[in-house]
Amino acid sequence: MNSETAEGNCHGWAARDPSGVLSPYTFTRRALGSDDVSIKITHCGVCYGDVVWTRNKHGDALYPVVPGHEIVGIVLAVGSNVQRFKVGDPVGVGTYVNSCRDCEFCNGGRDVYCEKGITYTFNGIDVDGTVTKGGYSTFTVVHNRIPDKYPLASAAPLLCAGITVYSPMMHHKMNQPGKSLGVVGLGGLGHMAVKFGKAFGLKVTVFSTSISKKEEALSLLGADNFVVSSDQDQMKVVDAASGDHSFDLFMSLLKNTGVLALVGFPSEIKLNPASLLLGMKTISGSVVGGPKEIQEMLDFCAAKEIYPNIEVIPIQYANEALERLIKKDVKYRCMSFPVYNIVPHEKGGKSNSRRKLEPKIRFEEQHSTAVPSAYTYTNGLTQARYLKELSSMKNC
Ligand SMILES: [Zn+2]
Ligand SMILES: [Zn+2]
Repeated sequence: MNSETAEGNCHGWAARDPSGVLSPYTFTRRALGSDDVSIKITHCGVCYGDVVWTRNKHGDALYPVVPGHEIVGIVLAVGSNVQRFKVGDPVGVGTYVNSCRDCEFCNGGRDVYCEKGITYTFNGIDVDGTVTKGGYSTFTVVHNRIPDKYPLASAAPLLCAGITVYSPMMHHKMNQPGKSLGVVGLGGLGHMAVKFGKAFGLKVTVFSTSISKKEEALSLLGADNFVVSSDQDQMKVVDAASGDHSFDLFMSLLKNTGVLALVGFPSEIKLNPASLLLGMKTISGSVVGGPKEIQEMLDFCAAKEIYPNIEVIPIQYANEALERLIKKDVKYRCMSFPVYNIVPHEKGGKSNSRRKLEPKIRFEEQHSTAVPSAYTYTNGLTQARYLKELSSMKNC
């Protein structure tokens, strides 16, 4: 691994400043520790978190930022203490790579709420004091995580978008058939909530500000009802109560003792206390989930053949992909790129690293038949051209 180039052992794409523009970047991953696995990254999902930190929207970006926290790939090497994984296993990594593993929450399988704080997959401080770098890169070194037999491109968005909705649904027992689930917003998170809801036998109502999503919500995702949440008349059809603020409006739609589980990030939460008091209602929040729950979700998705609707793009389109995320020009928001295309095109064909990437292409081909029909190629990149680009890389 240390021989990929003279300047470092890993190729990635990094933002250097708050413009957020990504460009090729070579760096060195830390050495494999006794509890680590090293993963050859095959795909990485594109998440709005990538926009947040590459553009320093929280004011804490540690440049250069290599984003990406929906990582899937193949185990390259395992540390001496690792027993769950072996070389060649397909694995995934979500939004964080480490925690104290000794507190009440870590011991209870909710590592993400570790008392001592978690180490984020990128823009976090690693055990060796360096800044963690994410999945827009060729390989990574992390503590042991998630194995699975699932199409890798489709698995990537589950590791952030999927678990973000799965975890609160399980916590609030929204996996019991016959219950009613309202899903506000039909992006990357929302469309997964609909899929999980239908798989659990729930009655699912989608609230979206865009009527254009009605057809997809009902016929493609199988939702039972669709309500345009910006249309007050339609909202009143569902429930006569109304309020000045949408939180009050949505709280009013809950049955008594119901829960509004917040997984998005509005700028503030404002609501009338009566929205909580009358009917003993709850507003709760959560972020992603622990490794045990992630594994459970992956197994559930594999058993029920639940796949995120994704677009597959080469990493050279990463800047455009992030722009599209900002403009909300991504259906369901989930994108996943095959990282074997990550090395910038160079003349002369001397890149050993690219030659090393070939096995991943074969791996992808093995999985291609299992990829759901929603697997599409975008940005004017036809499948034929995409495959041609890949095959040309094999000759380098
Ligand atoms: Zn994310
Ligand atoms: Zn802990």
